[in-house]
Amino acid sequence: MKDVIIVGGGIIGMLTTRFLHDAGLDVMLVEQGELGHESTWAGGGILSPLYPWRYSPAISTLSRYGQQRYPALCKAVQAETDIDPQWIRSGLVFTDDRELPAAQAWAQTFGYDLQHLATSAALHECEPQLADIFQSGMFLPEVAQMRNPRIAHAMRTSLRMLPITLAEFTRVTGLESSDGRIVGVRVGDEVFKARKVVVTSGAWTGLFPEMQAVNINVRPVLGQMILFRGPKGLLKRIVLHEGRYLIPRKDGRILCGSTLEMNSFDKHTTDEARETLREIACNVMPALRDLPIQNHWSGLRPGSPDGVPYVGEHPDIAGLYVNAGHYRYGVTMGLASVQMLTDMMLGKAPEIDPTPYRLDAVRTPTVEWV
Ligand SMILES: Cc1cc2nc3c(=O)[nH]c(=O)nc-3n(C[C@H](O)[C@H](O)[C@H](O)COP(=O)(O)OP(=O)(O)OC[C@H]3O[C@@H](n4cnc5c(N)ncnc54)[C@H](O)[C@@H]3O)c2cc1C
Repeated sequence: MKDVIIVGGGIIGMLTTRFLHDAGLDVMLVEQGELGHESTWAGGGILSPLYPWRYSPAISTLSRYGQQRYPALCKAVQAETDIDPQWIRSGLVFTDDRELPAAQAWAQTFGYDLQHLATSAALHECEPQLADIFQSGMFLPEVAQMRNPRIAHAMRTSLRMLPITLAEFTRVTGLESSDGRIVGVRVGDEVFKARKVVVTSGAWTGLFPEMQAVNINVRPVLGQMILFRGPKGLLKRIVLHEGRYLIPRKDGRILCGSTLEMNSFDKHTTDEARETLREIACNVMPALRDLPIQNHWSGLRPGSPDGVPYVGEHPDIAGLYVNAGHYRYGVTMGLASVQMLTDMMLGKAPEIDPTPYRLDAVRTPTVEWV
């Protein structure tokens, strides 16, 4: 009998396992594939929502907490594993200033430095690679990024070094409860017993009937990305243009993302998306026209109506917890949501008010949720 079984080993499940192990609990992590190989691998690693003022303040609250604590986590896992997650404060440039008043109000509320790049000269000084067509913009210098495959690799490696039961390539086929209390998880004919269970199954969370019973609305939203191979230092900043972004990596590679494709568990890539992303990327940064596309992939975001994750205990099954539905910003928000849930499980008062994230909180769909 374990103290806690965690179902799903993306960033949310791996952080949960780490935190509960550090608190002295006997934990088991069950993952249907290899740890950190789904959305957590596929994402861009921007540590910020794209237009933060467009979302519920509940998203900025989690983001702010994570942004302040990721440097320490990256340092810790690098010291443990020798794998560098490549946390870099690249800053985020917006190619227009149409939403300046809303952005300024949000920056003031949450304590961000938001710079108005009021002229073409100021914008191009901030990011010289931008096309000439852009005349003004905005800049968030504090925004950082990590390299997803690297943070996933570092987290996975550090967990493998601990006395934790890790069951990879093992799919949980059901949740087992008795008299309104969780007793474990089912894997085929076998039941793994535990006093508590945490569901961190990303896009697959809504497949458990216990989640459907309380209207947890988490669905897959596929995103495709392309990767250019460029020389080191060509692009300096993360650039955001009409919902699409460019992310410069330390070794010169440049990512361009992403598509939003609702409701498919089929992880496909299409020539159409590759060409659309390439065209947008080249229009934003003309130098990309000369660079080859090195890779093209997709991942399944755990979509939720307003992007606010479901975090808390199941109302009908004691000891069953959920932390899922982080949608487009699970890496950014994950550190905070995991801290909040593990504090609650350990009987500590969470630093962040959990009310907006409760499983029964009212969620108003954003325009991205169709
Ligand atoms: C193209 C793209 C770009 C993105 N860019 C960013 C970004 O720049 N910044 C940001 O913050 N976020 C970004 N995201 C979103 C972010 O990647 C996700 O929100 C985050 O990774 C979700 O983490 P997770 O652990 O909940 O899900 P996942 O990483 O998908 O992990 C869930 C795990 O649960 C496992 N699982 C599911 N069902 C079962 C079962 N029954 N039994 C056992 N295991 C199970 C799965 O195999 C999976 O490994 C992006 C996502 C995509 C796809």
